[in-house]
Amino acid sequence: MFVSENLDVNPSGHLTVGGVDTVDIVKEYGTPLYVMDEGLIRKNCQSFKKSIDMYYGGKGLACYASKAFCCKEMHRIIKDEGLGIDVVSIGELYTAMSIDFPAEKICFHGNNKTSEELKTALEYGVGNIVVDNLTELETLNSLALSFGKRASIMFRIKPGIDAHTHDFIMTGQIDSKFGLALETGEAFEAVKKAVSMEGILLKGLHCHIGSQIFDIDPFALAAQVMIEFIAKIKKETGYEVPQLNLGGGFGIKYINENDPVPYDKYMEKVSIKIKEACEELDVNLPFILIEPGRSIAGPAGITLYTVGAVKTIPNIRTYVSIDGGMTDNPRYALYQSTYEAVVANKADKPRDTKVTIAGKCCESGDLIGENMPIQQAEPGDTIAILATGAYNYSMSSNYNRIPKPAVVMVKDGKTRIVVKKEDLNDIVRNDI
Ligand SMILES: *Cc1c(COP(=O)(O)O)cnc(C)c1O
Repeated sequence: MFVSENLDVNPSGHLTVGGVDTVDIVKEYGTPLYVMDEGLIRKNCQSFKKSIDMYYGGKGLACYASKAFCCKEMHRIIKDEGLGIDVVSIGELYTAMSIDFPAEKICFHGNNKTSEELKTALEYGVGNIVVDNLTELETLNSLALSFGKRASIMFRIKPGIDAHTHDFIMTGQIDSKFGLALETGEAFEAVKKAVSMEGILLKGLHCHIGSQIFDIDPFALAAQVMIEFIAKIKKETGYEVPQLNLGGGFGIKYINENDPVPYDKYMEKVSIKIKEACEELDVNLPFILIEPGRSIAGPAGITLYTVGAVKTIPNIRTYVSIDGGMTDNPRYALYQSTYEAVVANKADKPRDTKVTIAGKCCESGDLIGENMPIQQAEPGDTIAILATGAYNYSMSSNYNRIPKPAVVMVKDGKTRIVVKKEDLNDIVRNDI
């Protein structure tokens, strides 16, 4: 009935999330509000783990890409589920460190990590520093030597795969700020350098071909290209790279037209491809890592807003204004992302109007969506935007000095705050 499996309508006609009435949630916590369903987060984690067990003999690890939704409680849940974690900055790393996330299960990404970030990663013992470029390799090698340590690294490789997604979020091709190119020989030069460095242990190769991808073939092709590269390295240097990180990017359902492939179908096909390629090219089966972000957090979240003004411009459109917008969800402004919207207190009524949902910022582009089918919305109604668990809270800002909303977690019919809402003191906290 809705895009995410944890949503339903109760006998009062209200939208429920993880079995809890959203109207009650709004009564208790107010709006705007992020709501995350812990049960669904855990279920999504387990489905990745199960698929690696089933199709790859358990010889792998799913690492949650924490940029999708990052806070201490999320990291605790991921730790408890036994997954690893990806971080892309010292802030995400610090969040993981602050809950004692096991260092060996952390992958540290980023195309321009600072020395401070690299030092912190070495001190904490991060298991996989994903090195993006030669400058970083040199810096890391000297830092590791000065600490008397050996840095465990992976190289970020551009496998050159076109994953048919939005240009802004495509990262696998040669024209990308991320990683080392295969076809120019840049990646191979970096590998040769790394295996000769005293402060570096080359544990693996990494690629990430994009985001919100629905097709399995680009993933299988990327796996094949990467195994071929491992084989070339083995042949020409004698060193066999033991790990392969295939990145994330698995698509989710934002609107009914989206048709994501079940994760185990992905793992089944990619496993077959890796096994075939390894057999053919005479390399050992690598330990694999995958990095789902959106597909773990996205479907588990919704955002709740209160409707203010409703403005109908005859023969043009109706604007429904909400008490949030691009500050808590910038994805329409950034990528024209699509979402499903529901009037949460009238969820049993037909969605028989089409409206533009507008935020409260001083920007005409501050919209959550246009032409969105929804129930008749009036001032005071609650609007739910669905599948906002990823890249909403984590991309939120204080533009127009709007405080960030709280994050509430739902579990077993109960709710609790996991991130407090900002107040006006937070807004001026760093002002002199
Ligand atoms: C963003 C990112 C991910 C997660 O992507 P999703 O689309 O959220 O699954 C994984 N790995 C890397 C390196 C990323 O940059």
